Amino acid sequence: MADKKQNKRNNNKNYDEDYNPKFRKQRKKVCVMCSDKNYVLDYKNPEQLRKFINERGKILPRRNTGACAKHQRDITTAIKRARHIAILPYAQN
Ligand SMILES: [Zn+2]
Repeated sequence: MADKKQNKRNNNKNYDEDYNPKFRKQRKKVCVMCSDKNYVLDYKNPEQLRKFINERGKILPRRNTGACAKHQRDITTAIKRARHIAILPYAQN
């Protein structure tokens, strides 16, 4: 029991040493649509929407797109519209 506790403490210590906060909070991503007022999200433009989906055709989460909540919602709607008119795939492979 005592050994186990000691082990756990050592593991935590190693974890803290490996954990470097410098690589965690690197530059806050700014929403592309908020930063550029002229940026128009078009559901008929697959090249533009392709930036917001992965290679499987899935919509990327906000942490990857960097979009704000409002614009992530717009992206999602646009991608779903594009899928419906068969511009983007629902799934690949
Ligand atoms: Zn935004």
